[in-house]
Amino acid sequence: MEMIDLRSDTLTQPTEEMLASIMKAKVGDDGRSKGLKGEDETVIELERIAADIFGKEDALFVPSGIMGNNVSILTHGSRGDLVVVSENNHIYNPEKGLFKGDLFGMVPVFVSENNGMYDLDELEEVLKTKDISVVCIENSHNSRGGTVISKLQTSKIVDLCKRYEVPVHLDGARIFNASIALETDVKELTKDIDSVMFCLSKGLSAPVGSMVVGSTDFIKKARAKRKLIGGQMRQVGVIAAPGIVALNKMVERLEEDNNLARELAERLSEIPGLKVDMDTVQTNIVTFNLDFKNIDTKQFLVELYERYNIRAGLTPLKSIRFVIYNGIKEKDITEVVARIKQLCKEMR
Ligand SMILES: *Cc1c(COP(=O)(O)O)cnc(C)c1O
Repeated sequence: MEMIDLRSDTLTQPTEEMLASIMKAKVGDDGRSKGLKGEDETVIELERIAADIFGKEDALFVPSGIMGNNVSILTHGSRGDLVVVSENNHIYNPEKGLFKGDLFGMVPVFVSENNGMYDLDELEEVLKTKDISVVCIENSHNSRGGTVISKLQTSKIVDLCKRYEVPVHLDGARIFNASIALETDVKELTKDIDSVMFCLSKGLSAPVGSMVVGSTDFIKKARAKRKLIGGQMRQVGVIAAPGIVALNKMVERLEEDNNLARELAERLSEIPGLKVDMDTVQTNIVTFNLDFKNIDTKQFLVELYERYNIRAGLTPLKSIRFVIYNGIKEKDITEVVARIKQLCKEMR
C-alpha cells in the first residue's frame, strides 16, 4: 500500500522550476546593507514582489513563519507588553515563544474567537481598559480547520483597533488559500493591517521561507529585530529564488487544494463513525472527530498509519487533521476514503 501523507502542506516538494531557479540565482551577502536592503539581488527582488502583491511599502524575507511572527510582534512591542491573541492562535499555541518569560516575555491577553473571528465586544472592552501593544489575528485559522475571515470581518477588527490606535498583526501563513476561498485579492483582504506574515513553504511549495510585509518604517525595524534573533542570512538568494517562483506561479494552483479538501470532507462525512463539521471546511484543511466506543483518536491515528499507510495530524483541539497540498491528486483522495472506510468498518 502506497503511503499517503496528509499531515501538513509543509510536506510540499519544490518544483523543477524552483530547483532550476536556484542554479541561476544571483546572490550576495544579505546581512550587509545597501540602504534599506541587503546585498542579495534575488532577495531584493523577492521582497519587492511580495510588497507589490500585498500593496504594502516593503517586505522582509525570514527563514520561517514562526520567525516572521516573532520578528513582527517584537517590532510592535517589547518584553512585558500586552498582546491580544486567542488561545487557539498558532502564535500562542503551539508557538508560545513570544510569551515565554525566559524568551521574549510578552504577556497574552485572550479574547474569544469563533472560527477565527474575535468577539468584537470583548475585544473593545480589552482595548478600552488595557494598554495593548498589538492585536494578532490568523487567516486562514489553522487549529479551527482552515476557516477564513472575510474582508468585512477583518475590517471590523482593524477599524476597532484603529479607534484605539493599536496595530494589527496578521498571521497569514495560508493567506492565499483564504484569499482564493473568499474570492478576495490579498491586497484587499489585508488592507490597513499593519504587518502580515505569510509562508512560502506551505501550499506555495517553496522549500524554505516566509515573508513579512508592512510599511517602510516597520520593515526597517523588523530587519533589525531579525538580526538580533539570528534570522539574518548570507547568500540567501538560493532559497529566495524558489520563493519568487512560488509567488509568480504557484498562487492560483491553491484553488485545486481547496477543492480537493472539500471533496475529501464531503466523502468522509458519509462514512458512519466520522464527524466532519462541513462548515469549517473552507480551504485546504479537513478536520474531523470520531464517534466510536472502542477506539480513541490517538489509537485511530496509529491504526491509520501502521495498517493503512496514511499519515494524518492532530489539531490542538484534538481533531484529526488532513491537509491537501501540491502533489496530492484526486486518486489519492479516492484511496484515502476507501482505506478509512475499511478501518471504520472494523471499528464498528
Ligand atoms: C505553519 C504556521 C506557522 C509557522 O510557520 P513555520 O514556517 O512552520 O515556522 C505560523 N502560523 C500558522 C497559522 C501556521 O499554520
